[in-house]
Amino acid sequence: MAMETKERGYVRLPAFLERGFSDLRREVVARRRCSMCGTCAAFCDKIRIEDGEPGFIEDYDTVCGLCYTVCPRTFMPRAEIEQKIFGEVSIGNDVLGIYRACYEARTKKGDIREKGQDGGVVTSILAYALETHAIDCAVLTTANGDWRPRTEVARDYEALKEGAGTKYTLYPSVIGVREAQEEGCNAIAFVGLPCQIQGLRKAETANANQPYELRIDDVKLLIGLFCTENYNEELLDFVNEHVPLERVKKFDIKGKELLVYDDDGEVISFSLADLEGFVGDGCSVCTDFTAELADISVGSVGSAEGWSTVIARTERGDEMVRGASESGYIEVRAINAEGLELIKRLAMKKRKRGEEAGL
Ligand SMILES: Cc1cc2nc3c(=O)[nH]c(=O)nc-3n(C[C@H](O)[C@H](O)[C@H](O)COP(=O)(O)OP(=O)(O)OC[C@H]3O[C@@H](n4cnc5c(N)ncnc54)[C@H](O)[C@@H]3O)c2cc1C
Repeated sequence: MAMETKERGYVRLPAFLERGFSDLRREVVARRRCSMCGTCAAFCDKIRIEDGEPGFIEDYDTVCGLCYTVCPRTFMPRAEIEQKIFGEVSIGNDVLGIYRACYEARTKKGDIREKGQDGGVVTSILAYALETHAIDCAVLTTANGDWRPRTEVARDYEALKEGAGTKYTLYPSVIGVREAQEEGCNAIAFVGLPCQIQGLRKAETANANQPYELRIDDVKLLIGLFCTENYNEELLDFVNEHVPLERVKKFDIKGKELLVYDDDGEVISFSLADLEGFVGDGCSVCTDFTAELADISVGSVGSAEGWSTVIARTERGDEMVRGASESGYIEVRAINAEGLELIKRLAMKKRKRGEEAGL
């Protein structure tokens, strides 16, 4: 990173100029480190994600280097990104990243409570942000009746509710940011996994007058989800052999089990140990449990049943959490010390696992 130069407040990364898609393919895809976040395809219209990996749609490579630069699995200029978005840099053992406040929270809206994964907080904060025109849409990962994920550009309360709930399936959701812009949105919220937040933050940080088709400045709010790991679509085929997916109401991971709730109120559980073969290849090198670069991070670990853990990181994120609370969208209370310790333990575990796998 010694060659980096500052330009108009942004960090210009040397790799941008030197590496192309063939390098990305060799260093990330071939080494099974791709997380399927979708950032490369969101920024470059010559890349498509097919059969679980990114590919160039034209038979040439360029030296543009955009895909290599925004990929969260190539290099991570963490300190530069933190400095830009938080105005400070975390220290090595600061395993939760930089934050202003950490709460337990849950929705106060009955209809969101029914659809939400945990406390329905993500959906409620987005509803507040839409109502106050802080955003004009939210890019969500939703699922149709058979649980195959897709992106949805949600512009109203009903569409936000449709997107609620966790889909434990890899999907290149960042491409939804491009879709939102194509639909004319310019104040976009994005909800996604730590790798997806990292990709978007890399783009934001490296935004030195480059000819992006995707206007990163239109992304106004990043809500990151806690994530231990994610699963490929074959998990859905496996579950379907035990319970038809159209009968599944909800998936959840509790402790060491995947729980599948069906429409009769039955719960079928699978040991996570038996599902290891379905874990995404690129998850093994990830070191980020709590989406440390998001404006707001949300997860279930650390909070009581029916509540979510909410980490407000940036000024904007903090404003949104407080605003949603003051306007009656969510209720918040201080997280207890035990909950916080548990999150730190899991974050440390993931960091170590990722660092070892990345060597
Ligand atoms: C793959 C995955 C793994 C997770 N692992 C953990 C974990 O180990 N520990 C933990 O505490 N929490 C984990 N979470 C987060 C947790 O499941 C809830 O998403 C979180 O607590 C928010 O709950 P909520 O009720 O506030 O969200 P809701 O109001 O229900 O909203 C959920 C939001 O998540 C988005 N979303 C759902 N699936 C995906 C997806 N595949 N990719 C991108 N966005 C998606 C939806 O668009 C929606 O906006 C994980 C989430 C995912 C998607």
